[in-house]
Amino acid sequence: MIDFQSILTSINKAASKEKDRGEIADYIPELAKIDVENFGIHLIDIKQNNFSAGNSDMHFSIQSISKVFSLSMALGLIGEKIWKRVDVEPSGDPFNHLSLLELENGIPRNPLINPGAIVVADILVSQLENPKKDFLAFIRNIANDNTIDFDLDVARSEQETGFRNFAAANLLKSYGNLNNDVDVVLDFYFHQCSLSMSCAQLTNTFYMFINHGKCKRENTFLTIPQVKRINAIMLTCGFYDEAGEFAFEVGLPGKSGVGGGIVALLPNKFCVATWSPGLNPKGNSKLGMLALEKLTTETQLSIF
Ligand code: GLU
Repeated sequence: MIDFQSILTSINKAASKEKDRGEIADYIPELAKIDVENFGIHLIDIKQNNFSAGNSDMHFSIQSISKVFSLSMALGLIGEKIWKRVDVEPSGDPFNHLSLLELENGIPRNPLINPGAIVVADILVSQLENPKKDFLAFIRNIANDNTIDFDLDVARSEQETGFRNFAAANLLKSYGNLNNDVDVVLDFYFHQCSLSMSCAQLTNTFYMFINHGKCKRENTFLTIPQVKRINAIMLTCGFYDEAGEFAFEVGLPGKSGVGGGIVALLPNKFCVATWSPGLNPKGNSKLGMLALEKLTTETQLSIF
């Protein structure tokens, strides 16, 4: 039996001593206010035992991690048709890069880079009666937690400074891969990214990816083939242009966000979330990556 708690406690101890904690993402001004000293980690195993250390209950902006939720909801709503509008290949480029979009005629490389997530947001805006409300209800339902909410200050902050996302959405529109108004789609997208959650809440929500599409209450949200697809996309595309390095160091599918969160999982075994807001040069949480490398090395648990 692996002693997850003592491993998390020692990871937290090592993190608290770390001097070089990376840089906070300040291109979204509201995120620049966060204290770089924060660190939290929470792990849930398949039997729903919970282990945590540090600021695991503190809320933070999950940013790009939300792209996994929007993809899950869109896949559930329109099924495999989604792949006509967004591809499933790693980009090897930063999350907000636009050049590939032009080269590939407005079909984004994958749903976890910004242009791909904006197409997914467009699908949800078309499909849902009250897009923001229905999306939030979907997440609350998976997590069985009605306290999860958008952070309206973060959404507004990104709305005011999200020039590259406006550029991406306009480019998608010019290629005919955006059916709704740019402003409407981006309003949805910025709210989705502003979701405020803790490490513990993230592992509750991602539990379905280790449990064949079933949430903690055993309600089915995704089919087994859909879970396979999303986990595969997380492995190959979940870490900007550092997905290779993450697979090499950690060896798990997952997703990170510029708020400093990372979720990673081993199907049938466990799901873990870390939060440390300082990022490495590729945009992934510096201490989060170190922590997860330590976790999979010490437990000898990875998909490889
Ligand atoms: N809302 C952020 C953006 O679109 C998400 C970036 C991220 O976390 O990777 O720039």
